[in-house]
Formats: sequence, structure tokens, C-alpha cells
Amino acid sequence: MNDDIQSRLLQLRSQLQKAAYAYYVMDNPIMEDSVYDKLYRELEGLEKEYPLLITSDSPTQRVGDRPASQFVSVKHNIPLYSLANAFDFEELQQWEQKWQRVLEGEIPTHSGYVCELKIDGSAIALTYENGLLVRGTTRGDGVTGEEITQNIRTIRTIPLRLNLDNPPPIVEVRGESFLPLDTFDQINLEREKAGENLFANPRNAAAGTLRQLDSRIVAERKLDFFAYTLHIPNADNFELPTTQWEALELLQKMGFRVNPNRDLCADLQAVQNYFETWDEKRKKLPYLTDGAVVKLNDFPLQRELGFTQKFPRWAIALKYAAEEAPTVVKDIIVNVGRTGAVTPMAVMEPVQLAGTTVQRATLHNEDRVKELDIRVGDTVVIRKAGEIIPEVLRVLPELRPTKTIAYKMPETCPECGSTLIRPQDEAVLRCVNSSCPAILRGSLVHWASRNALDIQGLGEKNVILLLEHGLIKSIADIYSLTIKQIMELPRMGQRSAEKLVGAIAESKSQDYARVIYGLGIRFVGKVNAEILTQNFPTLEQLQTANFAKLQGVYGIGEEIAQSVVDWFRVEANQQLIETLKNAGLTFEQNQAAPTQTNSNITGKTFVITGTLPTLKRSEAAEKIKAAGGKVTNSVSKKTDYLLAGENAGSKLEKAKKLSIQELSEAQLLELLDKTT
Ligand code: NAD
Repeated sequence: MNDDIQSRLLQLRSQLQKAAYAYYVMDNPIMEDSVYDKLYRELEGLEKEYPLLITSDSPTQRVGDRPASQFVSVKHNIPLYSLANAFDFEELQQWEQKWQRVLEGEIPTHSGYVCELKIDGSAIALTYENGLLVRGTTRGDGVTGEEITQNIRTIRTIPLRLNLDNPPPIVEVRGESFLPLDTFDQINLEREKAGENLFANPRNAAAGTLRQLDSRIVAERKLDFFAYTLHIPNADNFELPTTQWEALELLQKMGFRVNPNRDLCADLQAVQNYFETWDEKRKKLPYLTDGAVVKLNDFPLQRELGFTQKFPRWAIALKYAAEEAPTVVKDIIVNVGRTGAVTPMAVMEPVQLAGTTVQRATLHNEDRVKELDIRVGDTVVIRKAGEIIPEVLRVLPELRPTKTIAYKMPETCPECGSTLIRPQDEAVLRCVNSSCPAILRGSLVHWASRNALDIQGLGEKNVILLLEHGLIKSIADIYSLTIKQIMELPRMGQRSAEKLVGAIAESKSQDYARVIYGLGIRFVGKVNAEILTQNFPTLEQLQTANFAKLQGVYGIGEEIAQSVVDWFRVEANQQLIETLKNAGLTFEQNQAAPTQTNSNITGKTFVITGTLPTLKRSEAAEKIKAAGGKVTNSVSKKTDYLLAGENAGSKLEKAKKLSIQELSEAQLLELLDKTT
């Protein structure tokens, strides 16, 4: 037997056992659910492949974890099963095929699937006798839970008496108790003030709260509840629901809160649509959700299908794409950027993250590599949130194979071989050879990028192609490329060559600010390029401005001023400018009057911060400028308005201190409407 597999199995089991204990017993997880799920699946996969290696203590061989001991244990009348998971549409289809196979015959017509949001809370079971709440228990390991009736009685959305005239003798209700997000934030704020440990997330806070010994504390915490399962064992004279949909309606009638965001879907395509629609919408809900629970609607069909040892066959949890996942490092490389910055990167086994396949993640810099002590062969957790480049969050040392060696950053540039320098006070290593091919390649890609000269068809691949064939050696060379030269390159036909030359020609009329931004002067981003070109409307003025003059410009700090002065001093840069001028690029500000004038905006200075509801920040800036306003990047006494969106940070605070008028996007659009 392969020793590596045996040792990976042991490591995975030990890691998962620790995580499950922290999660179920201590309510204090040590890893993200998505990381746990992926490692769990890896373990399941290995055990499937090597069934002889399964041990009875494997986390795959039990439902949940032992409940903690301070409460009385109660055996559930009907176990609280877990749910099988699907992570994409294909797995959802496989689940459908699986339940259909179980029936071993003709597939009955059925009334479809009920989709409910999967609330990220803690499951509880409630027992009503003759309409009165007599017991509430945690899920525990699914078979045995803890009796927490006193605590459950404090949840206002759980009725103490069912709203039924003739209630059946026994009614069992299951559902999710959860903490709304704002309550969770409030609790953590109070804990922070009191110097107590913070809860990792609302779900653990809910689970921890339910198991508080003092029910007064539970009452203060304002737990909430959504009901989703109804069992009525003996129901003489009571009309039982025959579908999940009816059961949810009945629960609502009985006085429970039932999540309104449910849907009855005829087929899996409709289920998928529900799932996708809610992926965006759920972010606005006041509580956390981590997927959709899909249940066959018809109870007779559910009964026929029954349960596996752990899951109902008639339901599945379809989980939203994770933003964190574990994967294995295959290699560690360094990437040299256009500023010469050397960034270490982990090359990993491909992994699905936030909807895309990820194979590389940044390790930021040498210090971070040391701090992580990341090694080839390590299992690491990576994160990709929103648009951000994936990064390695941490190493899982318990899953480290034997005989790994610590990674050392290279001393020389992998592209040009020159010695790398770590400037004082900087975390990055740099290649300072200005003719390093990586720097040239990065500068060319930047020049052609969307916010700079926006040359369609000149992405990294084609830049490399042109460089490799010696057709360009600097930015200026782009402007002497001919259709004939390009056509002769591999993968390039006449049409694409014509298109590329056309796009290059068009870029000559891009405005002055884009040209300055495209030059890639350090610290001169898009906004700073705008500020510079507004204040120095010709290249002549910008080139001759000294440090003091540059720094005197509102929005331009010391670092930027020095960087601009340094850049123009370099002879090669002066030559580049000369060639670009001769090629016909724009080197002065279009002095045309603003397209509109508006007494509220013309001559006023704006700062934009945060995420705006509909406009991109750059679009808002364009609108302001078109109406004669100025946009700068830092708040000062000279700022007239702060346009603030969601998650506005320090700029908003500063503006408040300086009593600068705040605007929402809607208010800005209103002001713009008043254009005269
Ligand atoms: P689960 O959480 O994937 O799904 C079952 C649960 O879904 C139910 O018990 C119920 O609480 C909940 N649920 C929410 N809305 C529902 C609805 N409308 N209908 C039915 N159920 C609904 O499975 P599980 O067995 O409870 O727990 C396994 C989960 O625990 C995994 O997702 C795993 O990531 C997590 N876990 C995490 C760690 C960690 O270290 N982070 C450790 C162990 C387990």
C-alpha cells in the first residue's frame, strides 16, 4: 500500500476530527466550512478508492459530534439527518439520477422540487403536546441532542402554543435558529468591550447562545427562527399536508416564521435559476445563507425514497461557491512585474473558488513567505473574494508531507539574472535592471490596458509574441508596426493584423491623462494622472515642474512628486516621449470648455469613496468632470463634496471631521440634472 496515501488519510482524519470538535462541541471553528467540506470530500474520495483503509473512528463514519455535557441528553424521536451536498449543477443532476435509480422502475410524475434558502444557523427540534411547547432540543449528533427548552422559550418567533383549534396530540417541528447579522455585530461589539472572545460567525454565535446555561442571556441575544420541517405522528381528525409546500404553509398558519424566499420548481433548470437568482439577492438579506435546500415536494415520494445512514434521499443542499478552499502547492515561483517588483506566487492543484478555477495565488512578498513558512507539497487555504487576486491565507501544517524544505526567495532575477535588491523600508524585492524583459513586457501590457491607451488586441499574449519576434523593444515601437510585419507572426491572419494596427492608430487620439497614466510612472495611478494633467495642461509644463511645484498641487503628495521628477530626468524616458510625440500621441490637455456648466458643480472639488450603487467611481468622475467639476483623491479643507458609497472608510471619517458636505450617488445625479 502506498505510504503517502496512508499518511494522508491519517493526517486528514486527525485534522478533520479536531475541526469537528471545535465546531460542534466548542462552537468555535478553527477553519472555514468550505475548507472543512473540501478536505472531507478528499477523505471520502480516498476511502472510496481504498475501502480497506476505512477505520471506524473516521469522521466519515458518524453523523455529527458528541453533544457537550452540561445539558440533559435527549434522544430524538426522529433523527435529525444531515443533508447531502452538491456544489454545481452537474452534481445536482447526479443526485436526481440517483434518487430516480433507487425507485428501480418507472419514475412517477411528481409535483417538483421545493427550494428553500439554506439558513446558516443551528438546527433545533421542537415538540408540542396538545398544542403546547413541551420540549426544545439541539440537533447534537442527529440522534441525541441536548434539552434546551428554557432557552428556546425566549425565541419570540417560536409559538409557545400552536395556533390550531384542535391540535394533534404530538407535533414535531424542526427549523433553523439563527442570529440576524446586526444582532451578531452588536453582540461581538459588546464582547469586545468586555474583553471577551469574539464569536467567529453568526452561526457559531447562535449555537453558543442556545447552549447558554443562563436563559436570561439567551433572551437578551434575540435569536430568531425559521421553521421548515413538520412531523405529525398520529393525526386522527386532522388533515395532514401531502407536500412540503403545504407543510410550510401549515407551519406558517400554526404561528411559526417560515422563510418567505421559497419557490416551487418544476424541474432542475428552474431549481438552478432559483439558486442563481438568490446568489446575488441573498447578500442583501439581514441573515446569512450558504446555499439552497432542494426537497422533493411530494411526501409519498419522500417516504418511498427514505434515508441513507446520514441523509434523506429526497433532499440535497446546493451550496454557494466558496471563497476559501484548501489545495496543494505544486511549486513556488516568482513573478517580475512592470515596476520590477518580484512577487512570489504559489502554483497549486487547480481548485474551484468563487466560481472560477484557480491555479495561482499570490504570496505577496518575502516577509509573507517567511511568516507562512509555505513549502512545496503543503496543503494551504486560499481565498478569492470578489475581484481580488487569489491569495494564500494559511498553511495547514498538520497536512504537511514529510521531507519538505523551506522556500527561499531567489537572489537573482529569474528573467534577466541581475541581482535583486530589497530597498530600505520596503517589503518587496526588486529587479532594478531597467532593460529587464519582464519590466518591458509589463510596461507594454500596462500601456495597452483598458484604463490607459486601451488598445484592443494587445494583451499579454500578443505583447509576448511581438517581443519574442523582435518586432518591438519599447512602447514607442508599437507605433511603427505594420500590417505586413504582424501578419507574418504565428496565429495572426490579415484580418487580425489589420485590426491591431487600426487599434494602435486609434490609440493616438486617447487623451493626455491616459497617456501619462500609460507611461507607468510609479505611484501615478489613474486619478493622479488626471490631477497632474489638469494642473499641468501641457507636457512642457509637467516636464519642467520641479518638486515643490508638483507637491503644491492639491492631491499630489511627496512620493508622487518625487517619482514624477525622477522619471522625467531619465534620458531614455525623454527619448520615449519624443518618439511618442512624433508618432502623434496627445501630450496636452484638451482645453475645450466642459461640455456642460452647472453652478453646483463647475469649479467644485469632489472626492469619491466607497462602492456606489450603480455607477463605477470612474464613471461618476467622468460625469463630474464633464460638468466642470474637479475630482481629487484625498479629502482636505479644499474639498467641496464627498461622494460616498457603501463601505466608505477613512475618507468619510475625515470629511465628517471637516464638515464637508456628503453626497450619495442619487444626490449627485440630482445635482447633475440641474445642469444649465
Ligand atoms: P449541513 O449544514 O450541510 O446541512 C444540514 C443542515 O442544514 C440542517 O441540519 C439544518 O441545520 C440546515 N438547514 C438550513 N436551512 C434548511 C432548510 N431550509 N431545510 C433543511 N435544513 C436546513 O450539514 P450538517 O451535517 O448539519 O453539518 C455539516 C456542516 O458543518 C458542513 O457544511 C461543514 O462545513 C460544517 N462543519 C464545519 C466544520 C468547520 O471546522 N468549519 C467542522 C465540522 C462541520
